[in-house]
Amino acid sequence: MVKVEKSPNYKRIATEEAFCPVEMLDLWKKVLASPDCDPGFNSLIGFYMSSTAARPQHIMKCLTDLGEQRLAHMDESGIDRQVIALTSPGVQVLDTDSAVSFVKVANDELAQAVRNHPDRFTGMIAIAPQNPAEAAKEIQRGTELGLRGIIVNSHTHGEYLDDPRFYDIFAAAEANGQPLYLHPNTPPRNMIQPMLERGLDGAIFGFTVETGLHALRLITAGVFDKFPKLQVILGHLGETLIFQADRIDYMHQATVRSNRYESMKAIDRKPSDYLRNNFVITTSGFAEEKPIRYVLDFMGADRVMYAMDYPYQHSNEQVIQLDNLNIGDEDKVKYFQTNAERVFGIE
Ligand code: MN
Repeated sequence: MVKVEKSPNYKRIATEEAFCPVEMLDLWKKVLASPDCDPGFNSLIGFYMSSTAARPQHIMKCLTDLGEQRLAHMDESGIDRQVIALTSPGVQVLDTDSAVSFVKVANDELAQAVRNHPDRFTGMIAIAPQNPAEAAKEIQRGTELGLRGIIVNSHTHGEYLDDPRFYDIFAAAEANGQPLYLHPNTPPRNMIQPMLERGLDGAIFGFTVETGLHALRLITAGVFDKFPKLQVILGHLGETLIFQADRIDYMHQATVRSNRYESMKAIDRKPSDYLRNNFVITTSGFAEEKPIRYVLDFMGADRVMYAMDYPYQHSNEQVIQLDNLNIGDEDKVKYFQTNAERVFGIE
């Protein structure tokens, strides 16, 4: 891979970077062996944990390292800092008790890595949405540990955070001033089958459909009317929602007016207003200029951040492509550095 030098103009902060404690792998093995294993989990993690192909082997080796190898890769890619989160689906595929206890292990391990390399690593708080009250406590504990941002790997056993039973999580995010990164997961059991039939359930397509759905559910359920300060980060150029926003606005208003669904009532603003005010978008997985410029126009230069999606999209060529974006020097500093510093409170 081509080496990328550090930029003289900005720090490159990569904001959707993944890790996996080795103890997580043992817990996942048990889930994979269970008779009713989730088909999406089996497709994704079953593959990564058993394949002998070069790419999955590289990814598994990188995920479990929070030391010299990761730092060497960052140096080769010209990345000054990674914002690191527990990789998908993390604990969200576990039973409630295992999930609640394991996030503490994962957060302690990540917080230690951040203490070891404070100039290179920022760590996000993992939570177990299975138990919202415990998740709220872990958000506070993680904040005290120096972790910044909350990682949620989309649905939890097919459940979505717009259900009021999860509101403790949003209240804790607001109270602790923590943004919530809504990261992809494989689609749940009742959504995945037609995607699995053609191998389209993963990052190629299923991820963005499912995560975009999750974010849109938050908007149309009125979560941001109840938690107006809540900030949600979406990767992958906004998981299709930015490109769909015009139609979403039109059809949302039409649907509310015609009283079609008990579950779709009026909200204070247009869906696109929430996208612009309660979301921050990262370009993880994208390096092409035209869609990035569109998202920058839509969101404004203060709400779009760089992400590599290491180690899944470990591409130095894409770093160079993004360095050469024709978006203006000031906006590029915001994109690579200062937006992430503001959103995650990096000093
Ligand atoms: Mn990712």
